[in-house]
Amino acid sequence: MDNGIIEEITKIVGKENVLASVEDRKCYSYDGRVDGGMPDLIVFPSSAEDVSRILVLANKYRFPVIPRGQGSGLTGGSVPVVGGVVLTFTKMNRILEIDAENLITVVEPGVITFILQEEVAKKGLFYPPDPSSYKYSSIGGNIAECAGGPNSLKYGVTRDYVLGLEVVLPTGEIMNVGVRTMKGVVGYDLTRLFVGSEGTLGVVTKIILKLIPLPETRATMLALFREVEEAAKTVSAIVAARIVPSTIEFLDRASIKCSEQASPMGLPEEVGGLLIIEVDGDPASVVAQAEKIKKIVLEHNAIRCDLTQDPKEADRLWQARRTVSQATYNLNPVKVAEDVVVPRSEIPALIRALEEMGKKYGIPILSFGHAGDGNFHVSMMIRDTKEDREKAEEAVKELFSKTISLGGTLSGEHGIGLSKAPYLGMELSGQAMLTMKKIKQLFDPNNILNPNKIFPA
Ligand SMILES: Cc1cc2nc3c(=O)[nH]c(=O)nc-3n(C[C@H](O)[C@H](O)[C@H](O)COP(=O)(O)OP(=O)(O)OC[C@H]3O[C@@H](n4cnc5c(N)ncnc54)[C@H](O)[C@@H]3O)c2cc1C
Repeated sequence: MDNGIIEEITKIVGKENVLASVEDRKCYSYDGRVDGGMPDLIVFPSSAEDVSRILVLANKYRFPVIPRGQGSGLTGGSVPVVGGVVLTFTKMNRILEIDAENLITVVEPGVITFILQEEVAKKGLFYPPDPSSYKYSSIGGNIAECAGGPNSLKYGVTRDYVLGLEVVLPTGEIMNVGVRTMKGVVGYDLTRLFVGSEGTLGVVTKIILKLIPLPETRATMLALFREVEEAAKTVSAIVAARIVPSTIEFLDRASIKCSEQASPMGLPEEVGGLLIIEVDGDPASVVAQAEKIKKIVLEHNAIRCDLTQDPKEADRLWQARRTVSQATYNLNPVKVAEDVVVPRSEIPALIRALEEMGKKYGIPILSFGHAGDGNFHVSMMIRDTKEDREKAEEAVKELFSKTISLGGTLSGEHGIGLSKAPYLGMELSGQAMLTMKKIKQLFDPNNILNPNKIFPA
């Protein structure tokens, strides 16, 4: 990047808010999945006006601008694949308002999800979206990816809590969309268009979020099954019984073995499927729901069912689920992680297909995740070799094609970014892709903002 441009940017944000050394730039060249670009400059904006002025420059000199939260994304969304300026929001991290009377909060994009949850909980309020990365991911990143987590089953995902946004358009105009009220239907729903747009349509600089009352109490259950199918059928049976737990998480046999090896919690050898189920609400309904679920679990041949309302014991019951994602790296150094979703009734079919694929391709394939939503984190653990990468690529294609044939979708949480872009056409029609590209062009005529993401190159 030309030194003159760097000087102009530095004048806008101040030299304390710019990083340009090779070492610093390298730190912003990858996310949780993709390592594939080198930015020219890292900039920490302090306001929407800073962002606006940088985008005006970007259009004048035609350099790419890539918004970045905490870089925990799993599809390469914040990776500066063709260089340019990475706009990092770690310094715009203030909670501006918690309005307990109207059940809303106004935040800057750099606020860490967990910190927001802690702060609103002090006022008896709840912000439910809880990606497993919630201790370090940012609200801006959550909005751009429409993040979800274990709570999604009962409470929905990020988009269900976004009421309004301040957005800087790729051409530099600052725009407010949405409302501060619980309802609002004036004009097109541009707020929803920005949620999940992966930082390609606008830069989010302020967010109005809906809050709900914090549930009074919670019960946690760990259910162990010999066969993975029994666990899968239990999920459908709970949902069919019209009980809505806040969470139903799942681990298959390979995931259980892997987490036990990394951090043993003494699970019996024969366990082939594991569910963690939580219900929350007022004390009486929590007990009633937990008892109903326990009955269903035992009817489906669970070999053990531990139930607790003690938060410390609940923490222990979550151990295998919390351990598994990192533990997978004990199997092999490279993870190819997908997050497909299928209708709940098709969970057993997906799990059978994954077992067969593991044998066919000869690579460890583990699946765990949000079974209540039919959303599975499929981890293919491979060696860093050409042979294994090719096998994983074939396995991913087969996984996506199976998912679609079961009526599912390629991504429930992580978005498309770079890593899934080649597969977009497997799910979307040509017309749908064309319409999306036209929207991108309307917002960003010079293709400045986060180029090369979502759409296949
Ligand atoms: C171990 C692990 C577990 C995870 N578990 C989950 C999970 O359960 N559920 C889930 O949904 N995700 C999960 N993720 C993925 C990731 O944490 C989420 O996608 C998260 O929302 C990304 O937030 P971030 O702040 O790190 O964003 P980044 O990775 O920095 O960016 C993500 C995208 O958001 C855009 N962006 C960031 N800030 C802005 C802004 N202000 N304006 C416009 N665009 C912006 C970026 O350009 C990029 O496209 C997990 C990741 C890891 C590493």
